[in-house]
Amino acid sequence: MQAMARLTRILATFAAVAIGAAAQIEIFIVYDNTAAEPGFIEDWGFSAVVSSGGSKILFDSGADPDVFMRNLRRLDIDPASITAAVISHHHADHRGGIFRFTLKNRSAPVYFLDSFPGEVFDLARAVAMRVQRVKAPQEIAPGIFTTGEIPGRIPEQALVVKSSSGMVILIGCGHPGVAKMVEAAARQHPSERIRLLLGGFHMMRWSEEQIQAEIERLKALGVEQVAPAHCTGERAKRLFRRAWGPGYLACGAGRRIVVR
Ligand SMILES: [Zn+2]
Ligand SMILES: [Zn+2]
Repeated sequence: MQAMARLTRILATFAAVAIGAAAQIEIFIVYDNTAAEPGFIEDWGFSAVVSSGGSKILFDSGADPDVFMRNLRRLDIDPASITAAVISHHHADHRGGIFRFTLKNRSAPVYFLDSFPGEVFDLARAVAMRVQRVKAPQEIAPGIFTTGEIPGRIPEQALVVKSSSGMVILIGCGHPGVAKMVEAAARQHPSERIRLLLGGFHMMRWSEEQIQAEIERLKALGVEQVAPAHCTGERAKRLFRRAWGPGYLACGAGRRIVVR
């Protein structure tokens, strides 16, 4: 019986590898409004590094390049080891460190939305960044996708990373609406469970009723775990913690989250 269970587990791992999903995903929170570990600087902004299979993806780059680089170093992540970078939207608290990053890593492609303001592309050109302009959803590395541009007053792209137990969705600020962004990811990957939703949910000025309505939508979509960060706001964090219980994961700069 035990041998059978072991065989099933091995076969499941093979199946996951065959379809490009990594058996394990590691997420490092580089930049957040709060710090989770000693020696990390807290500052308004967001950045995370996702390690999956042979890929190491930088998602957003915080506000202050010095803080970004210092926290990255503290996590023992060499900028040169990053294989690709994705910037969720054009706000300065998400793209602040990307130009400094390019000075340390000129080979990694950087995925910007095609609709970013011209000045962002001017800065990128000045440091010879390998910019990829994103409109439509696409696979950027094995098992790792951008949702493409999700429309809104401030358009945004989310990052989808497939694990053997479902997908992880990373969101920068959630300006178009968090549930709307999760719906887009779910539409693009209909057979995937939504294992974890992580990032800034932008609900600082939302009423309890508004937050609760968004929670209902996310629950209906089947979001299994949440890790609200950055611009989510304290009230929303409290309500998410209450709604998800043990499925609530705390963020903060320096935090390492593993998805198996
Ligand atoms: Zn923003
Ligand atoms: Zn932000």
